[in-house]
Amino acid sequence: MLRKERYEAFVDYFSTHQPNAETELNYSNPYELLVAVILSAQCTDKRINLVTPKFFERFPNPQQLSTSTPEEVFEYIRSVSYPNNKAKHLVGMAKKLMLDFNGKVPSDVNDLQTMPGVGRKTANVIASVIYNAPTMAVDTHVFRVANRIGLTHNAKTPLAVEKQLVKYLPEDKIYIAHHWLILHGRYICVARNPKCNICPLTGFCKYYEQSQTETALKKLEDMKRKKELQIKKRNLAAKMGKALKKLEIRK
Ligand code: SF4
Repeated sequence: MLRKERYEAFVDYFSTHQPNAETELNYSNPYELLVAVILSAQCTDKRINLVTPKFFERFPNPQQLSTSTPEEVFEYIRSVSYPNNKAKHLVGMAKKLMLDFNGKVPSDVNDLQTMPGVGRKTANVIASVIYNAPTMAVDTHVFRVANRIGLTHNAKTPLAVEKQLVKYLPEDKIYIAHHWLILHGRYICVARNPKCNICPLTGFCKYYEQSQTETALKKLEDMKRKKELQIKKRNLAAKMGKALKKLEIRK
């Protein structure tokens, strides 16, 4: 199957079955999403959603957060991964947001990346989720699933995956394809044992195609080995039969 055909099948399937896929992080405005995404690095959305209600009660806007201290913020996020660093980043991000952007979350990926705690992936999430920009945030799920399906080829880094996906996906589907890949990776195409037996993408998934071919080849190999063994056994039995006959004649 050509890569172009895989892309078409991928977009077709998800446009029909998950036309409204969206992030599982809870938020009600761009500032809240920015906080939630910074917190979600190396952590689960579920955990972040447990933490953010109290956080947003205490820090309802960037202004409030910018006048706080990392020590105070730490108390609200201590159960997420890397709370020390994230507390520093959040306060730094809020200060920068107030100082350079008048408290409004910018839409430009480069502007977003000037804020502490905001790398390329986070900036791409904000730009695509809030502003529907054609940017692709590549996390571990997107990286793995895109490679397995065969949407990317020889893409060894998140940036390489991002570039290939942005190049081949229809522009108006890029922002939502991010969610398709994440959700599929989270619930079906999981890291250790992908659930191919219940996956609806087997018809165009490269990994599945290869694993099926490998299984078929292995079966053929096994059959060949069994047959060879049977022939060997038969030959040995024939030889033994002849030898016994000779012995009997001599007697
Ligand atoms: S068929 Fe298997 S490897 Fe391919 S996308 Fe589905 S779960 Fe992942």
